[in-house]
Amino acid sequence: MTLSNLTADYRARDAAHHIHPFSDMKSLNAEGSRVIVRGEGSWIYDSDGNRILDGMAGLWCVNIGHGRKEIADAIQRQMAEISYYNTFFKTTHPPAVALAETLARLTPTQFNHVFFVNSGSEANDTVIRMVRHYWATLGKPRKTVIVARWNAYHGSTMGGGSLGGMKPIHSQGGLPIPDIHHIAQPYWFGEGGDMTPDEFGVAAARALETAIDEIGEDRIGAFIAEPIQGAGGVIIPPATYWPEIARILKDREILLVADEVITGFGRTGNWFGSETFGIEADLMPIAKGLSSGYLPIGGVMVSDKVAEVLIGPGGEFNHGFTYSAHPVAAAAALENLRIIEDDRLVERVRDDIGPYLQERWRALGEHPLVGEARMTGLMGALELVPDKPSRKSAFPDTGKVGTIARDFSFRNGLVMRAVRDSLILSPPFTLSHEEADYLVATARKTLDDTL
Ligand code: PLP
Repeated sequence: MTLSNLTADYRARDAAHHIHPFSDMKSLNAEGSRVIVRGEGSWIYDSDGNRILDGMAGLWCVNIGHGRKEIADAIQRQMAEISYYNTFFKTTHPPAVALAETLARLTPTQFNHVFFVNSGSEANDTVIRMVRHYWATLGKPRKTVIVARWNAYHGSTMGGGSLGGMKPIHSQGGLPIPDIHHIAQPYWFGEGGDMTPDEFGVAAARALETAIDEIGEDRIGAFIAEPIQGAGGVIIPPATYWPEIARILKDREILLVADEVITGFGRTGNWFGSETFGIEADLMPIAKGLSSGYLPIGGVMVSDKVAEVLIGPGGEFNHGFTYSAHPVAAAAALENLRIIEDDRLVERVRDDIGPYLQERWRALGEHPLVGEARMTGLMGALELVPDKPSRKSAFPDTGKVGTIARDFSFRNGLVMRAVRDSLILSPPFTLSHEEADYLVATARKTLDDTL
């Protein structure tokens, strides 16, 4: 079979049977899926033999790059020992023990316990139950409200999708569930108006104070936020935002949940986004970079303050998944964390490839189509605007320009993602300087093609 016949064959069979997540199936069936057949380092290969730089590290997860043999070997070794056992009913196994211990060491000091799940969505569903169980155990069962933010992404299950503030998700399936309250996001470029970023950071944070005043501290169990909103468009909060949130929550009986599903494990140039922004959270959902996506695994890091209640008076937590701490996924995660530590990849993001790419990425801000080029660690966005000073997204068909640019980018040999009219980037930590140069040159060509 020729390569183009092979691609056509995959596409026809895929269209016949496969309903894709977050995909318009009608147009997908008309155009055909992209068929990715192989990955190596920063690169993926499609079924037509094209080599494309994976500027999104899959879905913000393949942080150590594709095709690491060490992970395949660790998976195979664990498969040969015991390929599955559960952690329900007071049972454990060596990879679960070692991974929990490693996470207690690597995460901020207040975290010494983890509850394992299989994904970021499950982590956030677990957060909802944990927060409510925590307060009920302390005799405050009315503290069921969780404050979250518009345009946040916390997954697409009933719980995760409800915590997230994305209207297209809410519009299907009866979300949000009760007692989830959304407030403004710290998106200065889009919503800051005439305020400086610092003024806007304080104002956006004060939406939390207003919500507390309106709803009542006696009803609110937690505030949840991503240190940097990822899927919402790499929204890097102004420097004043997180300190103001800390001021508002100080001495309040409200748990702080830092959703580190994207920002965890080095993406922002520290092990956790919480360290980059000085956030002291009580619960911390993790997934993606925990295993660099080699196998599905996630967790909720539980601070000592919450663990004391859950493990003591909380009694049995009636919650869990068949594959919580799946031994093979846990072995893959352990090997992934070993690679990140041994290869000093967090330091590499902070001191080497991070600053190298940031400088070149920010220079794209001079392109006539770009209103802002921002990046922290290795998370970046280009805001495409026709009129730079106004910062207004005034393209006639909002959301289409970004999508067009994303398609051009793929054809040019670089995966970027489109969020509204912005282009999003989140490459592997192993990206070389030459690959970073290629990335920026390809992004520039893509912008030129879009003009
Ligand atoms: N939380 C955040 C911040 C995310 O970015 C995501 C996914 O992108 C999730 C949760 C959901 O994770 P999953 O897709 O593994 O369910």
